Amino acid sequence: MIHITDKSQCCGCTACVSVCPKRCIRMTEDDEGFLYPKVDAVACANCGMCEQVCPELCSDDVRTPVQVYAAKNRNEEIRMASSSGGIFTLLAEKIIDCGGVVFGARFDANWDVVHDYAETREGLSAFRGSKYVQSRVEGCYQKAKSFLQQGRKVMFTGTPCQIAGLKNFLRKDYDNLLTVDVVCHGVPSPKVWQIYLTEIVRENGKNSVLPHRIDKKTEIESIDFRSKSTGWKKYSFALTLSEETADGEKNTVLLSTNFYKNPYMNAFLLDLNLRLSCYNCPAKGGKSGSDLTIADFWGINEVLPDFDDDKGISLVLVYSEKGQYWLNGLNFEYETTDFQSGQKKNRAILYSCRKPVNRSFFFRQLKQNGSVIQAYDDCSSTALNKRVRRFIYRKLGI
Ligand SMILES: Cc1cc2nc3c(=O)[nH]c(=O)nc-3n(C[C@H](O)[C@H](O)[C@H](O)COP(=O)(O)OP(=O)(O)OC[C@H]3O[C@@H](n4cnc5c(N)ncnc54)[C@H](O)[C@@H]3O)c2cc1C
Ligand code: SF4
Ligand code: SF4
Ligand code: SF4
Repeated sequence: MIHITDKSQCCGCTACVSVCPKRCIRMTEDDEGFLYPKVDAVACANCGMCEQVCPELCSDDVRTPVQVYAAKNRNEEIRMASSSGGIFTLLAEKIIDCGGVVFGARFDANWDVVHDYAETREGLSAFRGSKYVQSRVEGCYQKAKSFLQQGRKVMFTGTPCQIAGLKNFLRKDYDNLLTVDVVCHGVPSPKVWQIYLTEIVRENGKNSVLPHRIDKKTEIESIDFRSKSTGWKKYSFALTLSEETADGEKNTVLLSTNFYKNPYMNAFLLDLNLRLSCYNCPAKGGKSGSDLTIADFWGINEVLPDFDDDKGISLVLVYSEKGQYWLNGLNFEYETTDFQSGQKKNRAILYSCRKPVNRSFFFRQLKQNGSVIQAYDDCSSTALNKRVRRFIYRKLGI
């Protein structure tokens, strides 16, 4: 049976929970706010299935894509609402138009991130845009299997480890399944995210001490981790709050900061708040077994300068014939390129980030002060982080 002794060896995919015939594994939250499986040893039948599906225990080899594209959705509105070039939506629409089902990550009513499925084009909007928080997969692997067995086309999207977990859980290939992972440098803790949300609501003078996390009077209307209003490369973190006034009217406030000035985004980009498995990722570089991998085409301005309009370009890595089949005929603008050019400015495709020396310090400070802003400030005052920040600023020319 699964027994987690080293947390860096569990990416939280939930394949073990989903496969257990005795239903005796549940995900429980640790101090940092990440979920880990816990087995009820009394109920366990020692069948070993949980270990057989675990992507940390049975990892595949690195693969090289058979085709590489720089691509953008021709629909400007959708591209602007997407984090990269909007290729996710094009693929998903094609699946929906064939009567299929699309799985992806969306916010729930508390602004936590969960996996869910959509069967309509309208339903896809909730999945659009990167959410820099680990999503809860919950029962989505079983739901996907059930749709596959009914013969429905299924597109499952997620981080590479979520795709690896799904494929291990299914234990067979389905012609009607398309798997698409996003290049992923790591996922922050849902608890850190909730603390940060509470803080910014409070910071803006809206009573935020919440009986139910978010104050009823001050509501979050929208969150965009990758707003392109300031450009794709110098994107902003944007959040819209609405406040009910005494006379029952609604005031709306847009809070938008460049990503490099936002403490939550900085903690994410400096790898301070990531899951421990992300420093030793089991699924990068095509190991997930996905048909397609999509990412930001960082460095496009050097590889194909004429193609770059700073509104978002996707890098599309094709790993299978099935992946190519679903790309064929999509309404996108594209250029064929090579893997070397695509991965040159995107380390996260192949390599895990290094665990920062002050990661534990970050979580300790957070526990002590209950503030993400303060914990990040405490970390960023170290010499190392000052250097990293200066490096990022130099790269951005600011
Ligand atoms: C946590 C995270 C880290 C990332 N790190 C990198 C990186 O280092 N380099 C890089 O090039 N690209 C990274 N990406 C991917 C990139 O930001 C885009 O999501 C991707 O290029 C798809 O863009 P799009 O324009 O086609 O579609 P979009 O509409 O922007 O993408 C939506 C897709 O992302 C999925 N998604 C959103 N949030 C999550 C989540 N929390 N968990 C699982 N799936 C999610 C949705 O289900 C959907 O499939 C990351 C994405 C996430 C979620
Ligand atoms: S060994 Fe079998 S019964 Fe026990 S936890 Fe794992 S899957 Fe469940
Ligand atoms: S990596 Fe996935 S399958 Fe393995 S123990 Fe963690 S949650 Fe379970
Ligand atoms: S970096 Fe790897 S382990 Fe971490 S969330 Fe992404 S795919 Fe999973």
